[in-house]
Amino acid sequence: MTTKTALITGITGQDGSLLAHYLISQGYKIIAPTRKNPDKSNLKKLAVENSEQITFLTYKKWSDFEEIISHYKPSEIYHLAAMSHVGQSHENPALVFDVNCIWTLALLKFTQEHSPHSKFFFASSCEIYRNDFDRAVTEGDEKRPNNPYGISKLSAHQMVDYYRDVKGLFACNGILFNHESELRHPSFVSKKICVNVARLVKNGGEPLTLGNIEAKKDWGYAPDYVKIFHTILQQPQSQNYNISTNKLHSVKDMVNAAFSALNYKISWQGTGINTQGINSDGLVVVSINEKYFRPLDNRFLCGDNTKIQTVGQNINQVPFHQWVKSMTLYEYNSLI
Ligand code: NAP
Repeated sequence: MTTKTALITGITGQDGSLLAHYLISQGYKIIAPTRKNPDKSNLKKLAVENSEQITFLTYKKWSDFEEIISHYKPSEIYHLAAMSHVGQSHENPALVFDVNCIWTLALLKFTQEHSPHSKFFFASSCEIYRNDFDRAVTEGDEKRPNNPYGISKLSAHQMVDYYRDVKGLFACNGILFNHESELRHPSFVSKKICVNVARLVKNGGEPLTLGNIEAKKDWGYAPDYVKIFHTILQQPQSQNYNISTNKLHSVKDMVNAAFSALNYKISWQGTGINTQGINSDGLVVVSINEKYFRPLDNRFLCGDNTKIQTVGQNINQVPFHQWVKSMTLYEYNSLI
């Protein structure tokens, strides 16, 4: 057990809650600055919302972090808070850039000035990479984001590099590929699939409606990933790492895995937008609607994870089918 202190931004989100839960089990004290009236439902699901190891603070503006970092001088800083929805980032690019990049820069500056021995982890994103690779991307591959979220994350990522390489801070980018869990926000397709499959199996009703089910992603399990954030800060040198599975699964694979988790048989008929998932009574349980198609659904970005494997961390502790099953059972059991 340790007596280290970790500051986590974004503790109310999927990764922040899971990381807090993990660090508490490792004996950490946690400093958790949040906005006013934080939604602690994820922390509650993990039964840590009232943990004595967490000190919640309310901040109003980025500059409040100068006082927080200077006062607590945390051993580790995990900067996870962000406007994390890629699609929505087109609506307000300036705000996304401010939250995702300028805030990161402020935190790096305050850390350098007031707590230069703190180790700094930034949640970078696979959205920073060029989108037309036909092989798994490595950390050194070309970055060329094509949405405001990716642009903001790349600028922040480069600031982290600058504070490490020029200013000497122990600062690392975890280049995160998609990772899901029971705590995922309902606006993400993994949650939508698991919620609706559970509902269809238990109560029936309207079909699950999706966009391009042939779209593929490098999908991992968030509880595995947050342990890796911690491991990265325990290395002798600060570096950047892809955090990815190096495997692609389609949306259709996820639908199949979710139904089979509940021993419910479906078959597929038709092609393209006419594809339908049919149950054993001949009823349509999955349908396609073009309004859910995304412009880049045909990009199959996959992350080479050779480098992160060198730190001795098994990134696929829970394999794809098993975590989709876990998410689906969670939804099924929460239905009355
Ligand atoms: P999440 O569930 O959406 O959580 C986002 C967190 O950021 C929440 O705590 C939220 O706080 C905070 N936040 C959002 N907008 C904010 C704003 N304007 N000002 C201050 N705080 C704000 O995200 P996540 O899935 O845990 O992801 C964690 C990090 O990893 C993010 O930086 C994300 O971009 C990055 N990432 C995630 C994935 C993935 O697949 N999950 C992939 C690549 C990168 P409130 O509760 O106050 O809203």
